[in-house]
Amino acid sequence: MACPDCGRGSARVHSRYSRELADVAAGGRAVLITLAVRRLFCDSQSCGRRTFAEQVEGLTVRYQRRSSLLQHLVEMAGVLLAGRGGARLLHVLKAPLSRTSVRFPS
Ligand SMILES: [Zn+2]
Repeated sequence: MACPDCGRGSARVHSRYSRELADVAAGGRAVLITLAVRRLFCDSQSCGRRTFAEQVEGLTVRYQRRSSLLQHLVEMAGVLLAGRGGARLLHVLKAPLSRTSVRFPS
């Protein structure tokens, strides 16, 4: 796993924790993934970052509680159907959110 700041690889484990990640619905039901995540040390002397959490390519995004696919869906609902319409669509898709959480991507 590579440090997000300097790109240097690391396998030296600092700690482990579990993280919950909402994904797109399956079989008409909301999906919540529980991931076992490792926090790794960055051992580069020139890097300002000491530790970083590993990410799963194509599934997780840093600081997000949604899978990358669900995040994309939420952003598209915000762009195409701003506000209440977007929230309604996400409810139908079993990804219910408040009006304020359907935001335009920055
Ligand atoms: Zn680094």
